[in-house]
Amino acid sequence: MTYKTLDDMGDIRGKRVLVREDLNVPLSEAKVTDDTRLRAAVPTVAELSDKGAIVLVLAHIGRPKVPSPEFSTALVTKPFEAVLGRPVQYIDWENGPKAVAALQPGDVALLENTRFFGGEEKNDPAVIDRFAALGDLYVNDAFSAAHRAHASTEGLAHRLPAFAGRQMEAELAALGKALGNPEHPVAAVVGGAKVSTKLDVLTHLVTKVDHLIIGGGMANTFLAARGVNVGKSLCEHDLTGTAEQILEAADRANCTVHLPYDVVVATEFRPNPPTRIVNVHEVGADEMILDVGPAATEALADVLKTCRTLVWNGPLGAFETAPFDAATVSLARTAAALTREGSLVSVAGGGDTVAALNQAGVADDFTFVSTAGGAFLEWMEGKELPGVAALNR
Ligand code: ADP
Ligand code: MG
Repeated sequence: MTYKTLDDMGDIRGKRVLVREDLNVPLSEAKVTDDTRLRAAVPTVAELSDKGAIVLVLAHIGRPKVPSPEFSTALVTKPFEAVLGRPVQYIDWENGPKAVAALQPGDVALLENTRFFGGEEKNDPAVIDRFAALGDLYVNDAFSAAHRAHASTEGLAHRLPAFAGRQMEAELAALGKALGNPEHPVAAVVGGAKVSTKLDVLTHLVTKVDHLIIGGGMANTFLAARGVNVGKSLCEHDLTGTAEQILEAADRANCTVHLPYDVVVATEFRPNPPTRIVNVHEVGADEMILDVGPAATEALADVLKTCRTLVWNGPLGAFETAPFDAATVSLARTAAALTREGSLVSVAGGGDTVAALNQAGVADDFTFVSTAGGAFLEWMEGKELPGVAALNR
């Protein structure tokens, strides 16, 4: 995989550069509640502006069916200006060409929601034309939107000279190190609620990693497949056959699958209910498995100590509710310590996973934490992301 970066753009003074960013931040009553994505866009936008380009940021907000103010990028213009530390001009689609023509080298503008064009998500050539008419060059810095072949994420890369932004570059480098050409042994932690949402991830990983650590609600389906009575636990009983097939595929690929052998159970799902730590074969009919047990967690820590690379998606337990974050927090801290010591490359992604790592206070200690949700999962499934493929030369 080779692609051009900002280093390959040459002299861009006075050139109009269309930059696709992911500024799709959570909004509550028109206020940004988490500006992570705005901050992630800063390096590329600032660098292009410093180099004298006319920077035209393309972004989407939410899933508008029709153009409406609650999905306008105008809502994030001021917050983006604040993190960027320089003025950002909001430009709507009506005034696009005229407003862009008035911009000076170094200016930064945020264009209106790309999804206000119905054709954006259909990769419609007419919409690509509309965007392309505004710029001379294209930079894609939105890895997290790269799993969609939309006009602003894929189509434009074929129409204008295309480059990867700094954030895209960092993401591709980190993910390449973790699964592309990793140092072995490689461990993967896959947790979360359901097997059904991560079947393709599991199927791909068994061919790639040496240790597959399965936790979270989905471990219950695997335990059930092995004949364990999981009581009232979240469990997809109709998928035990599929779980069996994944275990067989892992066997053939010499991938060791680690399922919990002790678990934390409760009869009620609420903060700090009475709990028991039991062997998986001792779960009561009225009990739910809500976390991996301490003995299994310690054994998993020992597995990580033998590994050089770790990819992590999905919490090991129902981490939002105390004390069912214990296994996730403990294993995340082990991974963080190994990373600090330099013995482990650790890459994590997924909305709840990132929240859990923040809760454990270790997100900064991981080698790389991806802010991409869907794109990260598709990458873990071994799929080619259209927005990335279009940058490939
Ligand atoms: P991500 O967003 O990182 O990809 P998921 O969305 O797949 O992760 O899974 C996260 C959810 O899984 C969390 O809400 C968590 O509470 C839930 N979960 C984890 N373990 C269990 C369990 N044993 N029982 C029920 N829910 C669980
Ligand atoms: Mg989630």
